Amino acid sequence: MNKYSSSEILDYDKRGDCYTWCYPLDLSNFNTQNIWSQNEQIPKLSDTLTLYVHIPYCKFICSMCPFTHEKLDQRELDEYVEMLIKEISTYSHHKISKESIVTSIYFGGGTASLLSPYHVEKILSVINWSYNLASNCEITLECHPNTVDNKYLEQIKDSGINRVSFGIQSFQKENIEKLGLLQIPEKNIKVISDALGVGFNTVACDIMYNLPEQSIDNLRKDLEMAVDLGIQGLSVYALDPEVRQLKSIQQIKEQQKIEKEMFYYINTFLTNNDFVHVAQPDYSKKGHENRQIRDLWGAAQSYNLSFGAGAFSESFNGFTWANIHDPKKYIELMKSNKMPILMGKQWDINDAMSRYLVLGARCLTIPLDVYQNTFGIGLDQTFKYEITRLEELGYVKLTTDSLEITKEGMYYIDNISKTFFSFSNRGLSQFWGCSLRDKLPERFYEFEEESHKV
Ligand code: SF4
Repeated sequence: MNKYSSSEILDYDKRGDCYTWCYPLDLSNFNTQNIWSQNEQIPKLSDTLTLYVHIPYCKFICSMCPFTHEKLDQRELDEYVEMLIKEISTYSHHKISKESIVTSIYFGGGTASLLSPYHVEKILSVINWSYNLASNCEITLECHPNTVDNKYLEQIKDSGINRVSFGIQSFQKENIEKLGLLQIPEKNIKVISDALGVGFNTVACDIMYNLPEQSIDNLRKDLEMAVDLGIQGLSVYALDPEVRQLKSIQQIKEQQKIEKEMFYYINTFLTNNDFVHVAQPDYSKKGHENRQIRDLWGAAQSYNLSFGAGAFSESFNGFTWANIHDPKKYIELMKSNKMPILMGKQWDINDAMSRYLVLGARCLTIPLDVYQNTFGIGLDQTFKYEITRLEELGYVKLTTDSLEITKEGMYYIDNISKTFFSFSNRGLSQFWGCSLRDKLPERFYEFEEESHKV
């Protein structure tokens, strides 16, 4: 394991504004055939698997968007769904897929709610048929409020969706305009009320704060609206001006002076309203935890397979990989039986150990026993220097059972994650779809020869 002296630990004079969701980050060209052979270097991490299905198309293109998005082409979407089904089926033959229980399925985008109820049903029936689904498997569809109505919500519920998440960002017109979003507050409120009426297990939404010239009072209005509507899950993100490609970056940087106050205001407001801080930045009512996040980041970290153009398979057989981002190219490759992989990495043991803490920290409590049982060593031994430094700063607390993130540490969660990065990942940033849009690997490998080896 790489070791750092305490002087090499990251400085904390500035809050890291990089939202750490994927690790490791030193992905490059690799032999994708190896995904199909047993990875002897990594011990078995989990019995569970989470699935992610990416829909890269959007009806409306928002100016600030850092994600991969393609203007909707209905005929192409139909073809894309066929290829998604092919990719989903192919990976179901892998030994890990056969041995794992799927606890969560997540349809995200782009705009996942551009899928018709028929598309959703078709994809879910293939997953149902080819993977082992937990009886309480959480199945989420991310919805753009402008693309759904009550009938659509009823139909997707009938197709098997039991959780919906709306990319709202704000219920206030002035904020929506500042963000360049094509939404109408009244419509957003109506759609959420409809979703609650339809009877999904969980209705969730995203709220964004730290907006240009935003006051605490303005933020409070958004939180109050979410609570009054009866929303059961909330992801509350700070606007990152660099990532969001907004023109008025300087203006927003000024805003960052009260960001810490806003962060703790949100935490207090939501916990006082019976929300549990499940992971940063996710809050939910009891019994409505976002399983995709909890199972993927929290111990024992589940495997993850992600399908479609621009999808990141974050943890599978000791590999992380990303598919190419161009949906046309994805369709072409899948049709010719080629693995549509852009880049990836076969982990070494250091990657797996680091990942346990890099992502585990987001869940605020990292159990010691799972790490010990998995890696045969205590995490307080592997990361002694890093933990000591973080304890000195008051950001973590080591108990007999777990490493806990303190209330002060919550705000510095991305710095804490980065403290556990291995040397080869130091200084690397998270991936944002737009920057990978036109990249291609050195070669594409055939699907058939690999899948037959399992
Ligand atoms: S913000 Fe959402 S809806 Fe807008 S372009 Fe990006 S992915 Fe599409």
